[in-house]
Amino acid sequence: AGISYADLENIKVLGHGNGGTVYKVRHKRTDKIYALKVVHGDTDATVRRQVFREMEILRRTDSPHTVKCHGIFEKPSGDIAILMEYMDAGTLETLLRRDGTFSESKLRNVASQILKGLNYLHSIKIIHRDIKPSNLLVDRKMSIKISDFGVSKIMCRTLDPCNSYVGTCAYMSPERFDPDSYGGNYNGYAGDIWSLGLTLLELYLGHFPFLQPGQRPDWATLMCAICFGDPPALPDGASEEFRGFIECCLQKESNKRWTASQLLNHPFLCKDQRSD
Ligand code: ATP
Ligand code: MG
Repeated sequence: AGISYADLENIKVLGHGNGGTVYKVRHKRTDKIYALKVVHGDTDATVRRQVFREMEILRRTDSPHTVKCHGIFEKPSGDIAILMEYMDAGTLETLLRRDGTFSESKLRNVASQILKGLNYLHSIKIIHRDIKPSNLLVDRKMSIKISDFGVSKIMCRTLDPCNSYVGTCAYMSPERFDPDSYGGNYNGYAGDIWSLGLTLLELYLGHFPFLQPGQRPDWATLMCAICFGDPPALPDGASEEFRGFIECCLQKESNKRWTASQLLNHPFLCKDQRSD
């Protein structure tokens, strides 16, 4: 029943990531379209480790809100290829660039799908650690799936500090820089919620919340803003529910941040869908 590598035909390059390239491919016998992530055999050990971690996580996950894996190929050349379902509208980052900022009602739908995905991952003890617009895939029905598990962590014990420097620094939570001040009884899951809060705020504002539009990211300034500044908040004009929701995600102290399952019951998501 499996799909063999020889049956896949390359259509085009979808994008380049950290160490790999993602192709749009066609399965010749069924005409079905897939995405194929190829990591070349000569890439360094860190990247290869990430690919194996990603494979392991994809094998364990099965949810409508995480990207599905249809096969993994290891070629004699050493290349590794991961066959995934194809998401035909790109990522939340490409949608933001193409169609502009998201309305509150659009974000209510986006937030609820990402939270269902995070709630699922956290329930099976996986921390994503790299939630950001470009890792959230979208299809034309506006289904959203979490992808890119290269730096995710499978928790063996519940109290693993898991402080290693992975993920895109800009979206990292205060406790990942400074666990003593913001960590509480740090368990890592709350870091994904912080990144979700920043992601939603970015989609609403149209720019990364800690930077002014067009401002170039500077790592030291950014880290100071995350650790010492007030968390970013919504501007006037946003509803009370949305403002409250973002506040619950962007609590600097990780143990005050709401969990995915708490946020799924937040008034912002439970509000009557027809009211705006
Ligand atoms: P990073 O290395 O920082 O994660 P990235 O997210 O851009 O960067 P990849 O995860 O390798 O890197 O993906 C590259 C691009 O390929 C994505 O930005 C996305 O546009 C596209 N892509 C990835 N997976 C799929 C998929 N399943 N369906 C459709 N497009 C995809
Ligand atoms: Mg990615």
